[in-house]
Parts: sequence; C-alpha cells; structure tokens
Amino acid sequence: MRKALNLENKNRVLKDVFGHNSFRELQEDGIDAILQNRDLLMILPTGGGKSLVYQLPTLIKDGISIVISPLIALMQDQVASLKAQGISADMISSAQTQEDIDNIVYSAKMGQLKFLYLSPERLNTQWTLNLLSELKINFFVVDEAHCISQWGHEFRDDYRALGRLKSNFPNSNICAFTATSTNHVTEDIIRELRLENPLLLKGKIFRKNLYISSQRRITNGQAQLKNFLKRHENESGIIYVSSRKKAEELSLNLNIAGYKSLAYHAGLPQHIRENNFKIFVNDKVNIMVATIAFGMGIDKSDIRFVVHMSLPKTQENYYQEIGRAGRDGEDSEVLLLFNSSDMIMQKQFLKDIPDQNYANHLDAKIDSIYKYATSEICFHKQLAEYFEDTLDECGSRCDNCSNSDDLRQDITKEAQMVLSTIYKTNQNFGKNYIIDILRGSTEQKLLSNGADKLSVYNIGSALSKKEWFVVIERLTEMKILNLGEFSSLKLTNDAIAILKSQKKVDIKSSRLLVKGQEKKVKRTQEFDYDEELFEKLRTKRSEIASKMGIPAYLIFGDKTLKHLASDKPFDKASMLEVNGVGEKKFEQFGEEFLNVINS
Ligand code: ADP
Repeated sequence: MRKALNLENKNRVLKDVFGHNSFRELQEDGIDAILQNRDLLMILPTGGGKSLVYQLPTLIKDGISIVISPLIALMQDQVASLKAQGISADMISSAQTQEDIDNIVYSAKMGQLKFLYLSPERLNTQWTLNLLSELKINFFVVDEAHCISQWGHEFRDDYRALGRLKSNFPNSNICAFTATSTNHVTEDIIRELRLENPLLLKGKIFRKNLYISSQRRITNGQAQLKNFLKRHENESGIIYVSSRKKAEELSLNLNIAGYKSLAYHAGLPQHIRENNFKIFVNDKVNIMVATIAFGMGIDKSDIRFVVHMSLPKTQENYYQEIGRAGRDGEDSEVLLLFNSSDMIMQKQFLKDIPDQNYANHLDAKIDSIYKYATSEICFHKQLAEYFEDTLDECGSRCDNCSNSDDLRQDITKEAQMVLSTIYKTNQNFGKNYIIDILRGSTEQKLLSNGADKLSVYNIGSALSKKEWFVVIERLTEMKILNLGEFSSLKLTNDAIAILKSQKKVDIKSSRLLVKGQEKKVKRTQEFDYDEELFEKLRTKRSEIASKMGIPAYLIFGDKTLKHLASDKPFDKASMLEVNGVGEKKFEQFGEEFLNVINS
C-alpha cells in the first residue's frame, strides 16, 4: 500500500513540480533508495539529472534536506532554481548578513524550509551542529562528492571533515553525487563518508548530445577558434584558456573582432567576477573566456559550446569542463585545441610537488589526456573507458568517427623511414634520438655514435620535428611500435609487415598538418520545429527573465521552447503535455507563452 502511494506520489510530483513526463535512467532507483532511507552514491554525467533524485523525495517527505555543496555560486543557482519552481529553499554561507541568516534559521526551525544548502566548512561548526540538532532532517546530500578524494581532480580539504556526518547524525542517510569518479575515487567516497551498504548507481559516461572534436593548435589557435565560432553565432559558450593573461587577451581580441565576450579568472576582483558571471548567465554577453576558476558553479543549462585553447590537466577536468555544455540535453559542440608544448608546460609544474608518488600520479594523467587528444579512436569511447565504463560506438558524435577517408593521408613512406631507423639502431633509442637521425642532426652524441654513417641519416629532413612526433605517436597508438625500457622504441610484427610493404599506414590529415579544412559533418540531431516561433518564445522568455531578475533558462530550457514551437499547444491541458512544463511553471508563465503561440 505504502509503495503504491509512493509511486503515485512520485509521478505526480515529477509532473506537477518539475514538469517532466517520465524519469530518466537511474533517477527512479536513486529516489527509491532515498525514500527507503538508504545511503546512496550516484555517479551520473553532468546534465544527467542528479538534482531531481534528492529534490523529489524531499518534497514527498515532511522534513528538511541538508545539501552540502562546495561553491557559493553553485548553491545560489540551485536555490534560485528551486524557488523558481515554488519550492522553499535557502542557503547559509559567508556571503549573507547576520539578519539574513537569522531569518533563514527561524524558517528552518519553524519547518517552513524544504532545503538548506551549506558549505562544508559551515557544516562542521558547533553553531551549525546545534542548529541541525533542532531540525527534522530527511537526509544529507553531498554534492560534488569527488572533492573528498585526493585521487580525484578537485580535492577539497574541508570535504574530509564530512566523514563526521555519520557519527553526528547516525539516523540520517547520506546521498552522495558526482559526475566524475573512477573506481579509485568511488572507493574513497564510500570510505571517507562512511556510507553504510550504499546503493551505488553509475550512469553511462556517454553524452550523446555533445559533438567532440580535437585539433592540433596552429600558432595561437585563434583562426581555428573563429572558424568554429561561425557555427555558434549568438549562442552561449565557454572558452577555456590556461592563464589569466590569456583570458584577458583573447576576450579583448574577440571583442575587437565583433564578438561579445567577457573574461573570468581568479585574478579579477570578486565583484567583477560576480558581475561578469551574472551578465553571462542572463545572456547579455554570450561568450565567457575563462581559466578553470570558472568552474563547478556553472549550472547555466543552455551552453551550446565549450572550447579548450590548450590541453586540460586531466581527463576528469576535461570531462567536467565539457560537461558544462548542453546540460539541457540539446545538441552542443566541444572543441579541444592542443599542442605538445602544452604537455611540456604542465609537466614543469610537477617539479614543485614534494610527494613523488602524487607527482607520478599527475604525470600519468597528463600523458593520458595528451594521448586522448592525439588519438584517432572514438573520443566518447576513450572517455568511457577512462571512467571504467564501456561504449561500442558514438554514432558519429565525434570527429574521429565522422570524418571519412577523403581526409586521410598515407604515411606508409614516413613510417618505413622511422621503422628502419629504429631497426638500424637496434631498437635501443627513444623518439628524440630517432628523429634527430632522420633529420640529420649534427649533435655530438649522434656523431660519436656514428649515426651519420647510417643509410637513414638525414632521409627525413622534409618533415619538421613536430611532424615526426606525430608520426611516431600514430605508430605507437596503432601498436606498430611499443615502448621499451627507458622509452626506447621497439618494433612489433606489424612493423615488419610495413617495412616489407605488406601493410599501409594512414593518419587523419588534420592530425599531421592542420590545413584548416572543414568537412561538412552533421553535428546536430534535432527534431523539426517552427524556428520563427522559437525565436519569439525566446524573446518572451528574455522579457520575463529581466523583469524577474532571474536567468532565462530557469523559466524554460531551450529544449522546452523548441517543443513548444513544434507541438504548438493552444490551452493549459495541451501545454502541460509538453516535457518541461509543470503545474507550477504553468501558473507562473504559462499564459504568457500561450499568448505568443496563439497569436
Ligand atoms: P546534473 O545535476 O546531473 O548535472 P541537472 O539536475 O542539472 O543535472 O539536470 C539537467 C537537466 O535535465 C535540467 O535541465 C533538468 O530540468 C533536466 N531533467 C532532469 N530530470 C529530467 C527528466 N526526468 N525528464 C526531462 N528532463 C529532466
């Protein structure tokens, strides 16, 4: 009986409050675990719909849910989003006055609040523990739970203290959420939070709505960037750069060229950062050029593109950062521009890390992201495998899968040059030495070894050192070469076949020399809708958003507007059938949008 009641409740709340017609994968399992007072660890990609998993049971239960979140911006966004849905939520952080805090405490104690957001450092003060002991707590939510693990990529010291939650509140269950967790990090979260027999739910890493590509950067990459931006006129996007100076410079250059962008980095005064953030979220400026300081707090759901102007530090960082695109499930595009010099730069920072084990761990992560960037294997598949998930194919949702043969370049001749040089030097040397021989270097070490007497000496001077690196990377990826002791290059059976001209090797030409060629590939997977009406609905949404002083996407996401422009509902009942429209939202905005559609 109780179960049936919950089921009916769940579906009603899903539609009435959140406006969704059905649950997404794993959401219902998570909700059920929470309703059964069970600990939960949910690993679901950005945009997967984690918030609903703790928000919906909270609305079914009587008490208040306590949400621990690492960033004020993140909390603000969640609180604003709940309030827009007519749900009482608030946060306590250092950003508020004492009077604000007193009011929030009062409504929490009076049972008027459904959600209280807290930062981890707040949670562990005696003041907060006293407050919490007076509340009827449903359960605790630990958002961005990977921050508790030193082996993750965003370790936060104050997250460690969350280990005390279990002993301080033994009767409340804990639900932990993250988008990025390897098995190692998962074990850390369960251990550090002392989760008891938790339900572990792990979603697929694959995000079908993201089209991924990667290109070797030519000079500063700005020509490639502008080429990319042509496809995203007036759309919201983030461009990640590696330094504060680059953020300022690139933003300025883009603005001179007629784009609308702002810079965001940790060196800007707090009020400017906050202001820039607000301008971007409210769609007054569509491009944010940022360092990784523009991070976890970005919940804007209609970001259509993310560009990296250089290699990110790790695949976790990269996955999180591209995860900011397309949270609303709409088609979005991400581009990675990289160069081997990025990797060298990143590795230089490792010298300052005293813990050698940790430095080695980071070193391996840099190698791994570089390998990802240069690889010809499906990008989605590589990401899935990195996070210990599997994926057969992405269905042409990345450049490695959708580029056809006409963009390939035969490199059999170059491969034979490399392989015979390795053979003639007894497979004893690493890539630098082999390339030096091919390019006829006059380095003393080479000459004293008699390398200049070899028939292969200087046969490869037509290619630059960088191009030879690319050829060797490709041969290694194809397992034509293996790495031996001290990074010496070793031939495999396939290498012999190539040397005997029994086998050919090719490479994506954009990997070898980026020629700025752009092939027409299908990057979207849209349904048909009335584009003119969509634009009108967008305008209406902006009007309401500026009147209410909230971000436009909190009213309706782009996807909902497209469905409205496709289904063209004419009254309340038909509008409520559209995914994304619930009772609460209809009450607030329904009529205004119906007027636009009906006119
Ligand atoms: P996450 O926290 O996992 O990154 P969110 O909770 O922000 O994801 O949800 C991402 C988007 O998906 C939001 O726009 C949300 O409204 C939408 N969403 C969540 N659950 C559903 C559902 N069951 N049906 C349709 N849309 C959903």
